[in-house]
Amino acid sequence: MAAALAPRPRRQGVQDVTPRGGGAGAYRRAMNDAIPTMRFGPVTVHFGEKNGKYPDGNQLVVRGAEATAIFDTPQVAGRIPQVLAEADLALLGHVHEDHMAGLHLVPGLPLHVHEADAAAVRSWEGMARHYGYDEAVLAALRRKIEVQFHYRPRPDAIAYVDGQVWDLGGGVRVRALHLPGHTAGHSALIVEPEDLAFIGDIDLSGFGPYYGDASSDLAAFRRSLARLTELPLRVWVTSHHKGVVTGRAKFLALLQAYAACLDERSERLLQRLQDGPRTLAELVQQRLLYPPEAEELWIDSAERRTITLHLAELHEAGRVFLQEDGRWARA
Ligand SMILES: [Zn+2]
Repeated sequence: MAAALAPRPRRQGVQDVTPRGGGAGAYRRAMNDAIPTMRFGPVTVHFGEKNGKYPDGNQLVVRGAEATAIFDTPQVAGRIPQVLAEADLALLGHVHEDHMAGLHLVPGLPLHVHEADAAAVRSWEGMARHYGYDEAVLAALRRKIEVQFHYRPRPDAIAYVDGQVWDLGGGVRVRALHLPGHTAGHSALIVEPEDLAFIGDIDLSGFGPYYGDASSDLAAFRRSLARLTELPLRVWVTSHHKGVVTGRAKFLALLQAYAACLDERSERLLQRLQDGPRTLAELVQQRLLYPPEAEELWIDSAERRTITLHLAELHEAGRVFLQEDGRWARA
């Protein structure tokens, strides 16, 4: 279904209005030149620091004949103000602090987000439920993301649904494809007719899938990864790490390696129980995802959520059970 999109009159891009020679125009070009970009038809990818490694991300801009959309606003957005100024609407692939870092620069820009992530973007209370971390962690995290990511809620955010289409004019359309797991509302944004998909935090990284928040879901993540293999696309763009992937065989190999992390984690958890039953707290302390030296506010909470999801899946498969003493054991 098509979104009720009423594009504002198209403003001219900086290339059209920048005077040749020195002055502020030259400065803007120099700022822009410092950021690696790639073009695919109507889509420009502006790469964040280290190919968009967290805490940065990659900024996509899609220009139709009548409207320009930006996908997410990672930290790099702050370095391309002339690009943000061109935008008629912002589409969030999902809600997390690093994907909202430039929203404070475009406070009046119509902001669209999947309905399952809408509460998270609209208020801190919604964001806190979305993360689902311990109270003390949430308080510290809020202070941190207000400074590092200019976090502020957007109560005016507009909810979109799976299959929604934004027609940007000139045959350029964006279609939302709900791919939950990382968050409840995580969606790919597919640009037609370019067959390019912005797949956000299905980031194809060596770390593997992240589903450590309250709104994350392991079973949904598995289904979303399977769904991605079925789509006839040509270009895939992640928020972090891999950046741009072209070529179906390469994409499928990366996706397979990424998906394999899920079963590897289950196997590692079973190995931990090989030496005897463990409480959830003991398993969290041992860590399944993060190396022992990693220090982030949310690690214990994310480990607890992740391990709980794997234990539930293993329990369903009859491979583990919860003893009466509250310890998990192999079946
Ligand atoms: Zn994320």
